[in-house]
Amino acid sequence: MMLLDIYEPGETPLPHAGDSDRAAVGIDLGTTNSLVAVSVNGRPEILRDALGDGIVPSVVAYLEGDDEPVVGRVATRILEQEPELVVASVKRLMGRGTGDVASVGGHLAQKIRDDGQGGMVRLDVGGRIVSPVEVSGEILRTLRQRAELVLGKTVDQAVITVPAYFDDAARTATRDAARLAGIEVLRLVNEPTAAALAYGLDQGAEGLYAIYDLGGGTFDVSLLKLEKGVFQVLATGGDAALGGDDFDRALAEQLIQERGGGIAAGDVKPVLAAARRAKEALTEADTTTLDLEFGSRATRHTVTRAGFDALIAPLVARTIAAAKAVLQDAGVGPGELSGVVLVGGSTRVPLVRAEVTALFGREPLSDIDPDEVVALGAALQAEALTIGSDTLLLDVVPLSLGLETMGGLIEKVIPRNTPIPVSRAQDFTTYQDGQTAMAIHVVQGEREMVEQNRSLARFVLAGIPAMVAGAARIRVTFTVDADGLLTVSAREALTGVEARVEVKPTYGLTDDEMTGMLRASLENARADVVTRLLAEARVDGRRLILALDAALAVDGDLLSAEERAAIEGAKSALETAMTGDDREAVVAATEALEAAGRPFAERRMDRNIRRALSGVDVSRLESRLQAG
Ligand code: ADP
Ligand code: MG
Repeated sequence: MMLLDIYEPGETPLPHAGDSDRAAVGIDLGTTNSLVAVSVNGRPEILRDALGDGIVPSVVAYLEGDDEPVVGRVATRILEQEPELVVASVKRLMGRGTGDVASVGGHLAQKIRDDGQGGMVRLDVGGRIVSPVEVSGEILRTLRQRAELVLGKTVDQAVITVPAYFDDAARTATRDAARLAGIEVLRLVNEPTAAALAYGLDQGAEGLYAIYDLGGGTFDVSLLKLEKGVFQVLATGGDAALGGDDFDRALAEQLIQERGGGIAAGDVKPVLAAARRAKEALTEADTTTLDLEFGSRATRHTVTRAGFDALIAPLVARTIAAAKAVLQDAGVGPGELSGVVLVGGSTRVPLVRAEVTALFGREPLSDIDPDEVVALGAALQAEALTIGSDTLLLDVVPLSLGLETMGGLIEKVIPRNTPIPVSRAQDFTTYQDGQTAMAIHVVQGEREMVEQNRSLARFVLAGIPAMVAGAARIRVTFTVDADGLLTVSAREALTGVEARVEVKPTYGLTDDEMTGMLRASLENARADVVTRLLAEARVDGRRLILALDAALAVDGDLLSAEERAAIEGAKSALETAMTGDDREAVVAATEALEAAGRPFAERRMDRNIRRALSGVDVSRLESRLQAG
């Protein structure tokens, strides 16, 4: 715990037993599989069905004449027989327009329809028209029901994870799906961040971590920076159309060849299913056999681990190349990482583990089940958000948000990597005499010119009284909430006329666009990384000194003269270091001062808790406990 993290009496987030009949859970809403977990006293656990199965396949079947769709394992079996009634991999379509469908990757069985309004995707499932939000809502409803059954409590709050590259539209769609399922989203957390939390990396050493996530149909690699308990996603990459399903397909093709080729369309799914079982068996065994029976012919096949490895080697190589590219983009060498985390069922495959180990030159963290790690991290975060905790997890704005100004230039209002939630305002004025309206164009991106960035929304502030140019005062406020959703409002100071827009873009960014924008932003960021790091270190130092001075003024009596002298000595050493250009020296002096002040912080904490408990602010404390 840092010296700064002392809560004022009445604000102390004391852990308490919690409402006994309600629980908040963590949900990994995956492309292939979804899971729900709950954490009690910092120990997260997956919620399983009666057979001990924690996984709910993200598959929804709409049977004819049945209003309630079927979700999970049962739907997977229907998928093998009547694929046209079943929706799988719907996550790829969240927040996407019909124009994006070609680029979402993977294999979509359903007919895509337009919603007839904003060009959003609708699916035609055996004649029934459903939206991706509704389908995800069904998966979430199933997870919620499972949690309620297992816990015997009402479950109406959750932390839900989303890929780091999910844009505003996809995040909004995820929230909407939760609402349909009767779940209040406490926060959307990035999947790699959740995995890092499950490993407790937020409690440990600061540094850079790579998260390698190979699921069923997608590969994501992220670079996280941990600093003072705050994770930043520095870079993301991967391949939206590469995963364990491709391993299945490669093996299935080989099996069909072994039989001498030729297969009816209806027999493909069962062969794929057999290939998947063989693949999973080979994770433990060196060899496995399987029987195929179709086209009035039965054949038996033996697959060895070595043979399977040879089949998938080119696919694994693609993930390694993508991971290298992300490191390169961020200007980080594999040796600079503090750790590597494996996520996703396909990282069980031994060849994948071996290649990842070789790339990073170290054993990845893999003690936690890679299928479960994201949900477990989400559960920890749900617990922290509902009962209070001394770890404060912040996400950041991934791309800068700003406004178009004169000459097509961008004025950044919220720079990238600003922790959220955040609200920032900036004042503008009119540039023409008698101007009564102002067009406001909200953009996202790092580049200097409007056309190089992404347009998020446009709106007009009308009703400005006619004045000479430069006389009106228009305050534009950008607010990003804890889920990363943006609201922009504009208000004229004299008249109070106001206009606002909630930014929910109709179309999502394609993965290529996102990668390109992040790459551009990283290139900019690298140019002045040294100056920025020094500036940040100085800011940290200054904040610590200010907090310490304030604390000494209130609770200085807790210290002996010697202890006080030690703190003052460390403080002036830090002040000296801050006048120089040596970042390492500033960081070291900050840490030394923190260490010198730690006993003081602990004593203050004790005193504050005692004050809080002895009734100074009991009424407020109680109302907090009830609210929690
Ligand atoms: P997603 O994040 O896309 O929802 P998951 O992380 O649940 O997906 O990964 C699902 C993939 O993991 C499937 O392709 C599945 O076959 C694969 N998988 C699960 N268990 C094993 C195993 N023991 N060996 C190899 N692959 C596995
Ligand atoms: Mg996943």
